[in-house]
Parts: sequence; structure tokens; C-alpha cells
Amino acid sequence: MSAPVVVWLRRDLRVEDHPAFAAAAAHGGPVVPLFVVDPELVRALPSDGALFDFQAACLADLEAGLQRRGGGLIVRTGPPVDVVPAVAREAGAVAVIFQADTDPYARARDAAVVRALHAQGTRAQMLPPELLVAPDAVAPRGGGVYRVFGAYRRAWARQVKPLPAPTPRRLHTPPLPSEPLPTAARLGKTRAPMRWAIAPGETAARHRWAAFLREGLAAYADRRDRLDLDDATSRLSPHLRFGTIAVARLWADLQDALADPARHRGAARFVEELAWRDFFHHLLHHVPTLAERSLRPDFDTFPWENREDLFAAWTEGRTGEPLVDAALRQLVTTGWIPNRARLVAASYLVKQLLVDWRWGERFFRRYLLDGDLAANAGNWQWVAGSGVDPRPLRIFSPARQAARFDPTGAYRRAWAPEPREALVDAAARAAEFRARYRRWHADLRR
Ligand SMILES: Cc1cc2nc3c(=O)[nH]c(=O)nc-3n(C[C@H](O)[C@H](O)[C@H](O)COP(=O)(O)OP(=O)(O)OC[C@H]3O[C@@H](n4cnc5c(N)ncnc54)[C@H](O)[C@@H]3O)c2cc1C
Repeated sequence: MSAPVVVWLRRDLRVEDHPAFAAAAAHGGPVVPLFVVDPELVRALPSDGALFDFQAACLADLEAGLQRRGGGLIVRTGPPVDVVPAVAREAGAVAVIFQADTDPYARARDAAVVRALHAQGTRAQMLPPELLVAPDAVAPRGGGVYRVFGAYRRAWARQVKPLPAPTPRRLHTPPLPSEPLPTAARLGKTRAPMRWAIAPGETAARHRWAAFLREGLAAYADRRDRLDLDDATSRLSPHLRFGTIAVARLWADLQDALADPARHRGAARFVEELAWRDFFHHLLHHVPTLAERSLRPDFDTFPWENREDLFAAWTEGRTGEPLVDAALRQLVTTGWIPNRARLVAASYLVKQLLVDWRWGERFFRRYLLDGDLAANAGNWQWVAGSGVDPRPLRIFSPARQAARFDPTGAYRRAWAPEPREALVDAAARAAEFRARYRRWHADLRR
């Protein structure tokens, strides 16, 4: 029998359509599915404990899926640079297979793990990340990074997309010691009570996608911004974040939907959103400081007001602006909010409360089940006007956004029903932002 192979699982917590499991199965020997709890990552992530419980629930479903196929999941705690080579030695593995990541911390970690594996004579096989187009597969003329979505999108469209990998029917995992699943309690993380908006795990992801293909996709283009309609969007973002569904599976199914006249428009719009997802990973790949510094470097000198009291009111959903309060309350209660609510809440923090976008970016990542450095920082910078496609003077009026996207008021009634006086006058503060921006911009030019 062939020697074992380790599959190191990170943001790909599933068995189906999994390129690393397919590659491991091709070896024909035992497979060691390994999840490493990295204490440094646990410490550094701004996430609330609820995110770790969500991850643990995804791992439980993955473990069940592996066991149904005759395998098992090995969980170990420690720095990956030590743990991954150690498990490979214990198992007598010839290779470790894993998918790349665009996160700067992950890239440095992976490079160190690859060096350690090579040093002990174990082969390291790094597969492309969970994206439709790898971050370095496209580049503007002269190389580097795209800063405008439209140009990126055209190059992205020309790239061949991955096919779903074949799912192994049987796996054999050699008996190795394993630890309990890393729940928030085990990791010593505090956890605010949360009613997850999305059910965790691969099984739930597949059901959700099947239901959305059947019932949601046809009207997606028209309904995706409506806050008062339940299930107007796929709610797959946490699944894409944890890799409990393969983006290649979405792409394959979308090809069928594109060929169906009833679903073509919805499918085309959905493809657009997946292109945005890849775009922000392309950006993070080239600009590792995306969450720390404005893409437009001069923007970091903008004179924010940064009032702690207004920021606290925003985080606690008590600004008195019903749509903004509804968004923040939904976020901390369920770990997810629709894109339109994110846009309005983010724009309000930056352009009406005059708070630095980085404060909001970090707060969102603490609670979002889909919290992702690339998508979160990229979108916050887009809203602030400091990033790609910059339009710093575009300011959303929460009242007008509410009338347009929550016309029945159901969203505001569900999350922020009580009348409250607004802490600031949104229109006056927007005017203040514009005036500040123009003064600051004129000073820069002098
Ligand atoms: C301020 C702000 C912060 C955000 N932070 C995150 C984040 O941390 N993680 C995250 O996954 N998305 C983030 N988004 C993007 C978007 O809001 C969510 O991806 C989307 O709301 C998830 O819901 P859904 O799965 O139902 O989306 P759908 O409308 O069903 O879209 C399908 C998928 O496309 C991708 N997608 C959709 N819109 C975007 C977008 N604007 N940028 C990147 N990818 C997109 C997501 O993977 C999503 O799951 C943020 C947007 C804003 C404005």
C-alpha cells in the first residue's frame, strides 16, 4: 500500500469537491485530515468566541462526513510550523497537501511550514486558494495590482475557472491521537450569546445552495438589495469563508443557471459578486496592509473626528438612525447582515460620524461569521473612498436608503423598533464631512 498523505485543512472545511482530498486519494494510500489550532491566530483574530464555535460546528460536520467515508479528523494545537511536520513524521507521510491562502499571516506561516517539511524530506503540495481566479493570475499591463474593478473584471472573465474536484468515496485514516474540537470555551474565548443567521457545516451549505438555486436565484438581481425580504441573497458568505462549500461547485451550477432563461439574469448578477470576492483577494495578495493603511496613502492624513462616544453608540445600535441601529444589532445578534445594511452602516460611521474606517473594519470582523480580511477591508475602503474605485464624496442618506430598500419597514421593525432621537443630524454631518474633505484636499494640493 502507498504511504500516507496529510491533508492540512484551513479554510476548506468540507469533504466534497475538495481538491486536496482528490489529490490525496490519487496517491492511493491512507489520508490524514489534519486541523491545526494555531494559538497565535486564536490570539490575534479580533473575532468574538461565536466565530470559533461556528468553526467548531463546521469541523464536527466535517468529521462526521469523513467518518461516513471510513476516515477521521485529527485535531492538534500548536504552531503549524511545528505541528504539521510532526504529524507528517508520526504518520510516516510522504506529502502534505493544502490550499493556499491570500491572508498575509497565512502566507508567511505557509512558507515557514513548507521550509520545515522540505527540511525533513516531506513533500509539500500547495494547491490554488478557494477562488475562481488565483490572485496572481491576472495583472494590468506593466504588472502589479488592479485598482479599478471594471478592468479587473474583464481580465477575470477571460480566465478558465476550476472544475469541482472529484469526491473520494472511501478514505482510510491511520489511528493517531487527536484533541477535542476547538470550541470557544476550550480556547478561552469570551462568547456573546448569538443566534447564528446561518447554519454551520458542509451539509447545511449544500442544502442552502440547493434551496437558493431553486427558489432564490431567479429573482436575485432584483431582490438582493431588499432588506425587508427574507432570503433575498444566498447567505453563503460564512460557508465561503470556511470553505464548507466549494466555489468551483457554485461556478459549475451557475453555468447551468446561466443557460436557463428564467435564471440567467440572477445567475449573471451572482457571478458578478463572486468576481468582487476574487477582486478583493487579488488586492490583499498585492497589498498585505489592506486593513491597516488606506490604498490612497494621502487618505491616512484625513482629520477624522474619532469621537469615542459616537463610535460606542454605533457599535451598540443606539445612534437613533433606525436602519444603522438595525444593522448593528443584527450583526452582534446573528453574526451576519445583508450587503445593503453593511453599506449604509459603514458609510454612516465614516461620513456622518466621522470615524476612521479602520475602527469599523475591526469591529465588523469581530462579529461577522463571514469576517474575512480581504472582503471586509476591501469593502470598508471602498465605502470610505480610500480604496478601489474611490468616490469619497458619495454619502448614503440612511433615511433615503431605508425608504428605498426597506420600503415596508419590516427590517427596521425587526431590529430597531423603538423610536429614538438621532444623536446627530445626518444631513448636517454629511455636509460637515464634505466641507472637511474639501478643506483637507485643498491643503494637500498646496
Ligand atoms: C462594509 C462591508 C464589509 C463587508 N465585509 C465582508 C466580509 O468580511 N466577508 C464577506 O464575505 N463579505 C463582506 N462584505 C461583502 C458582502 O456584504 C457579503 O459578502 C454579503 O453580504 C454576504 O451575503 P450573501 O452570502 O447572502 O451574499 P450574496 O449576495 O448571495 O453573494 C454571494 C457571494 O458573493 C460574495 N460577495 C457578495 N458581495 C460581495 C462584495 N461586495 N465583496 C466581496 N464579496 C462579495 C460573497 O462571497 C457572497 O457570499 C462586506 C461588505 C461591506 C459593504
